[in-house]
Amino acid sequence: MAPPPPPAASTPLLHGEFGSYPARGPRFALTLTSQALHIQRLRPKPEARPRGGLVPLAEVSGCCTLRSRSPSDPGAYVCIYTYPQGRRGGRRRATRTFRADGAATYEENRAEAQRWASALTCLLRGLPLPGDGEITPDLLPRPARLLLLVNPFGGRGLAWQWCKNHVLPMISEAGLSFNLIQTERQNHARELVQGLSLGGWDGIVTVSGDGLLYEVLNGLLDRPDWQEAVKVPVGILPCGSGNALAGAVNQHGGFAPCLGLDLLLNCSLLLCRGGGHPLDLLSVTLASGSRCFSFLSVAWGFVSDVDIQSERFRALGSARFTLGTVLGLATLHTYRGRLSYLPASAEPASPTSASGLPRAKSELTLAPDPAPPVAHSPLHRSVSDLPLPLPQPALASPGSPEPLPILSLNGGGPELAGDWGGAGDAPLSPDPLLPSPPGSPKAALLSPITEGPPEVPASPGPPPPPPTPVAPAAECKWGPPDHLLPPLGSPLPPDWVTLEGDFVLMLAISPSHLGADLVAAPHARFDDGLVHLIWVRSGISRAMLLRLFLAMEHGSHFSLGCPQLGYATARAFRLEPLTPRGVLTVDGEQVEYGPLQAQIHPGLGTLLTGPPGSYRQGP
Ligand code: ADP
Ligand code: MG
Repeated sequence: MAPPPPPAASTPLLHGEFGSYPARGPRFALTLTSQALHIQRLRPKPEARPRGGLVPLAEVSGCCTLRSRSPSDPGAYVCIYTYPQGRRGGRRRATRTFRADGAATYEENRAEAQRWASALTCLLRGLPLPGDGEITPDLLPRPARLLLLVNPFGGRGLAWQWCKNHVLPMISEAGLSFNLIQTERQNHARELVQGLSLGGWDGIVTVSGDGLLYEVLNGLLDRPDWQEAVKVPVGILPCGSGNALAGAVNQHGGFAPCLGLDLLLNCSLLLCRGGGHPLDLLSVTLASGSRCFSFLSVAWGFVSDVDIQSERFRALGSARFTLGTVLGLATLHTYRGRLSYLPASAEPASPTSASGLPRAKSELTLAPDPAPPVAHSPLHRSVSDLPLPLPQPALASPGSPEPLPILSLNGGGPELAGDWGGAGDAPLSPDPLLPSPPGSPKAALLSPITEGPPEVPASPGPPPPPPTPVAPAAECKWGPPDHLLPPLGSPLPPDWVTLEGDFVLMLAISPSHLGADLVAAPHARFDDGLVHLIWVRSGISRAMLLRLFLAMEHGSHFSLGCPQLGYATARAFRLEPLTPRGVLTVDGEQVEYGPLQAQIHPGLGTLLTGPPGSYRQGP
């Protein structure tokens, strides 16, 4: 049976009068709609300009019911965890507690408190409310179970601290249950999910940058049961220096663009609400024949150079890319290469039919040029699981003159909900930027960048070697076949388009964002089944390239009328570098340099993006 249509945003679903906590505080009329909780103060007197009278559900992590430890108090309490935006923009946690006290007995008041908490939880999770039936906690499915993978070295090394202080309290307020594992080395997350028993997990969530999710998705696809495994919803909580997917999730969730802790809180709020969305994945075949899966981007030239060269500034967080861009502009290179793609509009022809067809102008026999396998040496440090703070089911009431009854969690409340001692009530303030690491080129940052001639000359020599050795591509032996791609060395079907020349950058991107604040493909959707190809040919001035990246913050770079900027949507592409040395990245991770090709697999994965939708409830 089809679910009933969702109620209009302004339709009152519940309405009632509540007291407050402590009990002698003001009284309120509460109205719950599908989008917000409206709070109107009734006594002592209605506020002339009610402040905080509207709590959008987008700012609510969860709620629970509480009872007074004083047996003589017949009231039952509903506590709502909210994260409103402060005057200066940053979110801070605020709990709102209301007292159901319309009836004489605690049991009746508890039923009312549970009715509100259950309705609110249903709305947060996108679960239908019964049209005429009772709203009780029985409507709620069991708490969703998440596997959290935290890279303690993500971004500026704040991932664990942010996770402990902000993420865990919030998802506990939402009534989600979780297991948490800190990754101890590169590829740890990949190995973990490869060997994971998948039953019972409602999501695997990485708390790091894009790199950790890349490991998880490739781990899920590198299993004999990949078809099932890749359907496990994955989520991302941005604590890295590159948080592109989180930027796209934030935008998809309807939040204004932001960075840092605000981005983390927005994405955590969305995660609390569940909602799996199909996610396109790009299967990328490298010169050596190994294959990996990308949810983000394949980059060559300026973008990958900046990404890899700025690794040494990772203590700066996302600012590393700004600094890297400035430095990259100063030492701009061009690369000769060939980009072929199957246009999105073309009816896909079977690549096996290529033989016998007229040879496309893009044809070239490719000699694989594998990079020597060099072991990557990440920061090896074993991190034992730190003890988690336990929920403190006590309410603090600052400024209260009388000793307050201690409230305890009701049986009907979400499993883990409650106030967290110490962590949650502290105001959230943006972290100060760490000082530049020793040796960071402050002088280069400050010295004027000489504007290049209209034609950027091809680099006199090859670009400097990458600062970090390239990890041997962790190959995915399983996963769906690439039916649109002929073997890498074989000719392409005639419906492919080929561009050849000198390029400053080539970028293939699946979602909209290249960074948390870089909207490279404004029209891209998680499941549009497209790879968005963006290239910049040589001849662009440094000033124009800088303008392009500045405009990308708002996704307006295509309106600059830059003649060197090109764009196409495709279902598959092949990239053939003709310059002998350079840097190629897949989802920000460096891969072997040489020809590569890729095809999009529409909706292969599932991404937790928040409403609409809910956690799928597995066994
Ligand atoms: P960032 O955006 O800060 O680069 P990522 O999530 O991309 O964050 O992580 C960077 C890299 O760190 C990934 O390649 C991942 O494999 C690796 N990694 C994960 N856990 C650890 C660890 N404990 N020590 C070192 N590297 C790790
Ligand atoms: Mg896409």
